Amino acid sequence: MPKAQETVLQIDLNALTHNFNYLKSKLKPSTKFLAVVKAFAYGSDSVEVAKHLQGLEVDYFAVAYSSEGVVLRDAGITKPILVLHPQPANFSTIIDRCLEPSLYNAKVLNAFIEIAEKHQQSNYPVHIKFNTGLNRLGFWENDVDYIVSKLKATEAVLAKSIFSHLAASEDEKELEFTKTQIEGFKKTAEEFETKIGYSPWLHLCNTSGVLNFPEAHFDMVRCGIGLYGFGNSSKEDKNLKPIASLKSVISQIHRIEKGESVGYNRAYIANDFEKTATIPIGHADGIGRQYGKEKASVYVNGKPAPIIGNVCMDMLMINITDIDCNEGDEVVIFDQDHNANDFSKSANTISYEILTAISQRVKRQILK
Ligand SMILES: *Cc1c(COP(=O)(O)O)cnc(C)c1O
Repeated sequence: MPKAQETVLQIDLNALTHNFNYLKSKLKPSTKFLAVVKAFAYGSDSVEVAKHLQGLEVDYFAVAYSSEGVVLRDAGITKPILVLHPQPANFSTIIDRCLEPSLYNAKVLNAFIEIAEKHQQSNYPVHIKFNTGLNRLGFWENDVDYIVSKLKATEAVLAKSIFSHLAASEDEKELEFTKTQIEGFKKTAEEFETKIGYSPWLHLCNTSGVLNFPEAHFDMVRCGIGLYGFGNSSKEDKNLKPIASLKSVISQIHRIEKGESVGYNRAYIANDFEKTATIPIGHADGIGRQYGKEKASVYVNGKPAPIIGNVCMDMLMINITDIDCNEGDEVVIFDQDHNANDFSKSANTISYEILTAISQRVKRQILK
C-alpha cells in the first residue's frame, strides 16, 4: 500500500475480488449475486466498485435511491440495477435510465404502473417487496390478492422478483425470529406464484443471511457489507478483507506542559509534559465528535495514539507522547490490520456507519 501524503481513502480492488469470491463460494452455482453499492458503495467509490464487480460474475446491482443508479448508468454500468427505496417523483427517471424499482406499497405500485403505461412500456421489470418483520418497507402478506389484481390488469410491468429483508440475520439470539421471517417469506411467495401464474425470482438474504442461513438463499442474494470486508462476526471477519483504508498524515507536532489544554473548549488537559500531533481530518470528513475525548485511537508507526479533546471540523489532535514520529508521517485511522469495525466500536457504533460516514471531501485512491 502506498504511504499517504494527505488524508486519503485507499480502496483495494484485489480485496474486493477476494470478498466476492468468498461470498460466492457460499452459494450454489445457480444462485444469482446482487451487489449492494448504495451510499457510494458503503463509503468507498460506487463507480470504481461497480465497474470492478461488473467485470466479475455479478448479476445485479442495488442502490437505495434512483440518483445513485443514475450515477452508475452515467459511468457505463450496464447490468440491471434495483432501486431499493424509490419515490414516485423519480419514476420517469427510473424508466429513462433503465433502473428497476422496488415497489413496497399500494401508492408506489399504482404510481409506477401509471407512469410505465404513460411511457408505453411492456413488461417493465419491477420487484415486489414484502414486509416479513422488519417493519420498515413492504407490502403485508395479505396484500397478495391486491398486488396480483393490479399486475394482471396491466401489460406495462412484470414482477421480476419478490423479496424481503431480514431484521437480525447476524444475531444468534434472534435465530427463531429469523426462521419465522424465512417461513413467512416462503409462504407469501408461494401464494403469489400460484395467484400470478408465473415464478418471479425470490431473494431474502443480506451478507449475514448468506453466511448464517444457507437454506434461505433462494434465487438470488443481496450482499453489501461482506463485499467491503466485514462479516458481522469475528469468525467471518477473518475470512474477509476490508477494502477501504483511511489514512492521513501528521501536519504539526506540539510539545505541551502539564496543565496546558488542547483544542476547543479546552476538552483535554495535559497530565504531564506531553507531545501531541494535529491531523488533517475532522468531523466534516466523517470522524464524528463521539470519537474524541480518548474514546478512539489512530495508529502512528504501528502504535495507538488516542484522539484527545474535541474533534474539530477539519482536524483532530492525538497524543503521541510515547511514539517516535515526525511531521509528515503517516497516520492510520483504519486499514486491514486496525479495522473500521474496531474503530467504530470505540464510539459504540458499527462498521456500516463509520464506512458510510467518510465524506466526499476525502480523496479516494483506487489500488488495482
Ligand atoms: C443494505 C441492504 C442490503 C445489504 O445488507 P448487508 O448487510 O450490507 O449485506 C440488502 N438488502 C437490503 C434491502 C438493504 O437495504
